[in-house]
Amino acid sequence: MAKNKIQFQRGMSIPDFITQYGTEKKCRDALFQLRWPNGFVCPLCSNATYCEIKSRKVFQCNRCHHQTSLTAGTIFQSTHLPLTIWFLAIYLLTQNKNGISGLELSRQIGVSYNAAWRIKHKLMQVMLERGGTKRLHGRIEIDDSYLGGKRVSGKRGRGAGRKTPFIAAVETDMDKKPQRIKLSKVNGFLQEEIERWSIENLEPGTRVVSDGLACFNAVVNAGCVHETHIVGSGKQAVEHPAFKWVNTILGNVKNSLKGTYHSFQKKHIPRYLAEFQYRFNRRYDLPSMIPRLAYIALRTPPMPLRLLSFAEQKW
Ligand SMILES: [Zn+2]
Repeated sequence: MAKNKIQFQRGMSIPDFITQYGTEKKCRDALFQLRWPNGFVCPLCSNATYCEIKSRKVFQCNRCHHQTSLTAGTIFQSTHLPLTIWFLAIYLLTQNKNGISGLELSRQIGVSYNAAWRIKHKLMQVMLERGGTKRLHGRIEIDDSYLGGKRVSGKRGRGAGRKTPFIAAVETDMDKKPQRIKLSKVNGFLQEEIERWSIENLEPGTRVVSDGLACFNAVVNAGCVHETHIVGSGKQAVEHPAFKWVNTILGNVKNSLKGTYHSFQKKHIPRYLAEFQYRFNRRYDLPSMIPRLAYIALRTPPMPLRLLSFAEQKW
């Protein structure tokens, strides 16, 4: 049987990880390189010369004497945990196909559940903010879906009570193989919501393939071309070739979230979707996910618990 090149790719082994990020100095050096790839730059006056005050772990600008730490102004700011713990969390979050629950993370990195939860949600917030930046293009399959909540008796799928609605979109290449995905929580499946989402997430000219749900017509208002396939419901709809990938991804998302988390709060759903999306879109290069996530974490502003809760309201 042919080997699946994604499943069988070489990830980063634990010995490789320890070699690269196993000590506090290695983690500090890695972060320094990622934060200042061309050498130190003073955040206040852009001067490049500095001295290091090792006892306080700060860098002092030689011109304006401003002092800054490696993690000031980043998602790692004011952490009391060693950087080795942060890198280990990044490793576990990115290298496992289905992610890792807060509870399991706390066991594996040896910190309290609350501390593990905060690390995990800060890193998921980094993924969420990053995920919004690149728009899909070419051909995409799109579908409406729901997560969580209790099913109201007799109602399934569309319109089911208290579930969280989200859009699943899969960009496919010339061979109709999946490339990138977007999983976005929406405020219901209404024309104006789909229009807003399309402007934000799709390049004009994108060919959008959907079933007959009326709201998806709104993609034309974002300059996209709409292709509709009326598929009926049930098994026939799920197996329709036009939606092969969006249905596969939806099945994987739901199984992955159910398998890893068992239950999660509704308000955190955008972060869980962002986490799945982040890993999927970078699945061809597992080892590079560690420095890449650290790189954007350094460019994401600090997020104390108060703000971490505030961000949940926004989505
Ligand atoms: Zn300065």
